[in-house]
Amino acid sequence: MQTIGHWIDGTNHPGSGSRVGDVTNPATGEVTGQVAFAGPEEIESAVASAKKASVDWAATSVSARTQVVFRFRELLSSRKEELAAIITAEHGKVRSDALGEVARGQEVVEFACGIPHLLKGGNSPQVSSGVDVKSIRQPLGVVAIISPFNFPAMVPMWFFPIAIAAGNAVVLKPSEKDPSAAIWMAELWREAGLPAGVFTVLQGDKVAVDGLLDHPDVASISFVGSTPIAEYVYERASRAGKRVQALGGAKNHMVVLPDADLDLAADAAVSAGYGSAGERCMAISVVVAVGDTGDALVHKIAERTHTLQVGDGAADTDMGPLVTQAHRDKVASYVDAGETEGATLVVDGRSVDAQGAADGFWLGPTLFDHVTPSMSIYTDEIFGPVLSVVRADTYQEALDLVNANRYGNGTAIFTSNGGAARAFEQDVQVGMIGVNVPIPVPMAYYSFGGWKASLFGDTHAHGTEGVHFFTRGKVVTTRWPDPATAGGLELAFPKNH
Ligand code: NAD
Repeated sequence: MQTIGHWIDGTNHPGSGSRVGDVTNPATGEVTGQVAFAGPEEIESAVASAKKASVDWAATSVSARTQVVFRFRELLSSRKEELAAIITAEHGKVRSDALGEVARGQEVVEFACGIPHLLKGGNSPQVSSGVDVKSIRQPLGVVAIISPFNFPAMVPMWFFPIAIAAGNAVVLKPSEKDPSAAIWMAELWREAGLPAGVFTVLQGDKVAVDGLLDHPDVASISFVGSTPIAEYVYERASRAGKRVQALGGAKNHMVVLPDADLDLAADAAVSAGYGSAGERCMAISVVVAVGDTGDALVHKIAERTHTLQVGDGAADTDMGPLVTQAHRDKVASYVDAGETEGATLVVDGRSVDAQGAADGFWLGPTLFDHVTPSMSIYTDEIFGPVLSVVRADTYQEALDLVNANRYGNGTAIFTSNGGAARAFEQDVQVGMIGVNVPIPVPMAYYSFGGWKASLFGDTHAHGTEGVHFFTRGKVVTTRWPDPATAGGLELAFPKNH
């Protein structure tokens, strides 16, 4: 059994404490490793190493920094299969999906290769006689990333390529459920030529998180995870004077209007509802069937669920297991609750025949119809392969439902009416919107983030908002006086002349 340690000062660090956690292969149920949990000693040495490294790294030329990021991109691209295999072994998602995750992370690395352009400031010559003004942006120092289990490579890559390219040192605290991807990426950074200490991995649980939130030498926190923890992280780190972006949970609705292509909509609902076993913050968990679409749509979705192969993600299946036995049982308990609360269970995944080991954490695609907003399967983020269909009489009723939801991460509308789609874009209270696209994850050069309980703070991930988050602005006002004409007192507030 392997021990997964920290990565401090450019090298593996086994961990000095006795606190560890089990790492499991969700497709077999087998404990494959133990991850070290950081205590005060490791937190201190991780941040101290990052702080020391941040000084020289910030002073390194932007061209030299970019070359390291570019080399990281080349290595990642050529060895992505290795990383995808690690993700599948600890998370459970199928191989093609793991490769997709790496590809979406790589896009941010490619965006960060353009950092020389992104860091260009403004320059206004002659704002007054002989006076020029320019703006510059500088790195923050040590920045921390705390990431969830569901994207062990992509979510950290939403942040660290930009943070590093901009001249910061990063401390990443990955999820304790799938900690190996972070160590693999740390080794890749070393190979790419990143100086020791600029990228650190601190493994652990709440102790490691709290240590980073409170540490005076950590300048910012980028958190992604569930809403209660996002809110907690936002409050605690803000109180400690840090810059914080904390992305939380989701309950994403897909509105299907009567004029939609129902086959396209059913394909989208199945792909977005059951891909990655529903363990995506942009998964569709609620389908809102408007007008008379409900019966046909439910039938088409149900038909498609029966074609899905559930099994070990390392084999060529469509849907893998859930991440842990505890999470599998929690999701199954929602299926029980949905039945008790009176929803119509159309497809029951609890007794799925998975093509995998008997001890894997299996739950098949599950479909409920006639779900109402008071049921727990509607109110709660289940984070599993459970799709709820809610019926709405009108477009307005569907819109009101989406807007009344406490979350606002992603949503989609399926229609052939451009006017209705445009009205939805304008009126819906959600951060990321798809029109006939079920999982509208923005490209790296746009920014990713939700509204309401899906984001605490105001800065989304990557794109120009990411560059802004990982840098601080300065404005410099300059006068180089002509010795022949300079001088004289002027006690009044300077006038522009
Ligand atoms: P989680 O909130 O349980 O954990 C996220 C991180 O917080 C982990 O690193 C974990 O170790 C740490 N953590 C957990 N409990 C903590 C505590 N009490 N105090 C301090 N730190 C703690 O989330 P998860 O189960 O790993 O991930 C799934 C959640 O993440 C879902 O809610 C999903 O919607 C959300 N998510 C959101 C986005 C987004 O962009 N909005 C993206 C991916 C995942």
